[in-house]
Amino acid sequence: MNRSALLALCIFASACTLTQRRDTEKVIAQSLISDDQEFQLGLQVHEQLKKDNTKFLENPTVELYVESLARKMIAEANKERKLDWKWFVIDDPATVNAFATPGGRIYVYTGLLLAAENEAEVIGVLGHEIGHVVGRHSARQLVASNGLQVVVDMALGKNGGEVAKLAAGLAGKGAQLAYGRDMELEADQYGARYASGAGYDPRGLATFFEKLKAKYGDTGPVMTFFSTHPANSDRITKVTELIAAENLQGTELGVTSLKAAQAALGKK
Ligand SMILES: [Zn+2]
Repeated sequence: MNRSALLALCIFASACTLTQRRDTEKVIAQSLISDDQEFQLGLQVHEQLKKDNTKFLENPTVELYVESLARKMIAEANKERKLDWKWFVIDDPATVNAFATPGGRIYVYTGLLLAAENEAEVIGVLGHEIGHVVGRHSARQLVASNGLQVVVDMALGKNGGEVAKLAAGLAGKGAQLAYGRDMELEADQYGARYASGAGYDPRGLATFFEKLKAKYGDTGPVMTFFSTHPANSDRITKVTELIAAENLQGTELGVTSLKAAQAALGKK
């Protein structure tokens, strides 16, 4: 039995630890969809967003600002997965959202930049989205939802057609792809680590969730983000535990610099 088949079995064996299962899924996702295929898929989704008349922000000050924040985490992300990262700001002040597509394209809405109270919160969200890409979550989600047959075919080397099917599914679902709870938790962990590594308060993502939930409940402009990112207390507890367990440092909040970017977006 080759290594892939052995790893594939782990997915369905109850004896696997969560970490083993995650690593196994990652290996399978990687063998099913290459970096180049992911890049092409991301490009495809981007073309679709343009066709759907998504309004991209044309404001160099804010675009450069978002890029500068993302760059603070990219060196760390590239250690695990080196990609040609790209950043886009969607001009939609009423939507508090951000998402990532395969291959390293990260999208953030102006509504999220306007709703945040400090940079640590924005960094936390961006780090979370980078984490989805580094963890190969889109490919893993498709593997998880396509089930045993795909994995068996892959293990037997008959994966040509399956790859095409996965690719089609990925492009079709595009930005709307919802990840499982374990992947959201994993992305939270990446986000906290990246934020801390960049010198920011790693609790930004968790506090942002709490504040938005207190302010809007589960409806209103926040709904888009909450529909795929439920701010349940379990999740906030888990990320807080990780911060303590790994002794993640970082105190920068970046209130002033965020305010400058928000002013460039017309916020009084
Ligand atoms: Zn997420």
